[in-house]
Amino acid sequence: MFAGILINKDETGYRATLEQIDPAQLPEGDVTVAVEWSTLNYKDGLAITGQGPVVRRFPMAPGIDFAGTVSESRHPGWRAGDKVILNGWGVGETHWGGLAQQARVRGEWLTPLPAALTARQAMAIGTAGYTAMLCVLALERHGLKPGGGEILVTGAGGGVGGVAIALLAKLGYTVVASTGRPEEAAYLKNLGASAIIERAELSAPGKPLGKERWAGVVDTVGSHTLANACATTRYQGAVAACGLAQGMDFPASVAPFILRGITLYGIDSVMAPPPARLEAWERLARDLDPAKLAAMTREIALGEAIATAAQLLQGKVRGRVVVDVNR
Ligand code: NDP
Repeated sequence: MFAGILINKDETGYRATLEQIDPAQLPEGDVTVAVEWSTLNYKDGLAITGQGPVVRRFPMAPGIDFAGTVSESRHPGWRAGDKVILNGWGVGETHWGGLAQQARVRGEWLTPLPAALTARQAMAIGTAGYTAMLCVLALERHGLKPGGGEILVTGAGGGVGGVAIALLAKLGYTVVASTGRPEEAAYLKNLGASAIIERAELSAPGKPLGKERWAGVVDTVGSHTLANACATTRYQGAVAACGLAQGMDFPASVAPFILRGITLYGIDSVMAPPPARLEAWERLARDLDPAKLAAMTREIALGEAIATAAQLLQGKVRGRVVVDVNR
């Protein structure tokens, strides 16, 4: 038997509980992994609380990420003992996930753990950090360069936001952090933000165009914030949109696109193809300062994940959470 969180939905309601699970219940897959670390992302918060329709099958082991060691493999790419990470592919949504001591998945979903990272660091990064890197890569491919103007990061106090700030600052960009938690200014400056702006400056309905300010944007919140970020992006600048913490709507106009030639990049981590994942993880191993990652990370035990998931959706969790599934 192994410990894991299971989500059930039946006539008595929707609930997540820590349970002892029989390995015979593990889903189909050609690689079994002894999970060492997992994490909590926004989507895990939605899954565990039932506040968003993330879980598609019941019972479900949540957890869109895990890091651990292969214990059995029938896949030609993996052998017992290999260190692996998993992000997305519907794991924790339609296929049992990482908030458990064992996982069984398809070998093609796994990524090798970069040699420079421990399993715990990989989960401190998690899908949140890997998505932040995908955003940074999109801005780089657009042609943005350090010294070329300010980069706005929204939802800065959260996981994606924190990793985006640390990455961009280390690469030499000037980063402006938008947060609803101004009391976290010292934390955000320590990660590398040069300036802080109040979330409210961007989150209310705005004009089709505003004063040009941002060379680039990493937006984790969507809705009016994304619309206003586009409206204040400089001529031929770029916005990478990855999140919906404020809302899934996009109440914008075409003005920034047709009058300022800005580009909006959509960022998806879940189904990103393996080469994009490898590039992102290699860059994370190289460009993310381990001290900054440690400064934004809190560790919890598996049994604490259920309560912490609710706090995360309430915007009460700062930065990243790693889950020790064996504690
Ligand atoms: P977190 O909960 O860690 O961070 C979200 C942050 O958004 C909060 O900390 C808060 O920052 C801000 N926020 C919360 N509510 C609101 C609101 N109503 N209006 C404006 N800002 C708000 O989540 P993650 O960092 O893990 O994820 C961020 C977003 O990115 C989520 O929407 C998630 O679903 C999405 N995501 C998308 C991925 C993809 O593949 N496209 C992958 C990973 C995440 P502050 O307090 O500083 O204002």
